[in-house]
Amino acid sequence: MPFWKTVSLTAMSRAQWESLCDGCGRCCLQKFQNGKTGKVAYTWVSCYLLDTQTCRCTDYANRSILVPDCLQLTAELIPRLRWLPRTCAYRRISEGRDLAEWHPLVSGDADSVHRAGISVRDKAISEVYVHPEDVEYYAVGYRL
Ligand code: SF4
Ligand code: SF4
Repeated sequence: MPFWKTVSLTAMSRAQWESLCDGCGRCCLQKFQNGKTGKVAYTWVSCYLLDTQTCRCTDYANRSILVPDCLQLTAELIPRLRWLPRTCAYRRISEGRDLAEWHPLVSGDADSVHRAGISVRDKAISEVYVHPEDVEYYAVGYRL
């Protein structure tokens, strides 16, 4: 049995936890939160540290210092983070769902998440290239 079916999120080793990330980059997109409803809308504008081709953070070790808003996911936090994409491996496991067939741990191929159209590759634009006042024009338009 694969480890994500037998080990709880709280009991996973660091290596298991990190390998669970499918590398989609979706959580690294900028979001807006409606002050009244609390609903979160995604945009295609990504954090400046995201490599929009590999969909990986370019300075993962120092991300908390460089991007104070970057949230460190924990098993306890995940159920409360309703903005996490429904495809997110951590959310799936937390909700008792299995990993999808395109997840690299299932497919054995790191590119399967890109081929399946789940990642932000060829969709995201770095915040480096977008004026802060224009970010809202890049709203995703549907729920991730
Ligand atoms: S949304 Fe989840 S699986 Fe995708 S990059 Fe973020 S943490 Fe990893
Ligand atoms: S600092 Fe890295 S992990 Fe955090 S949002 Fe930016 S690209 Fe993503």
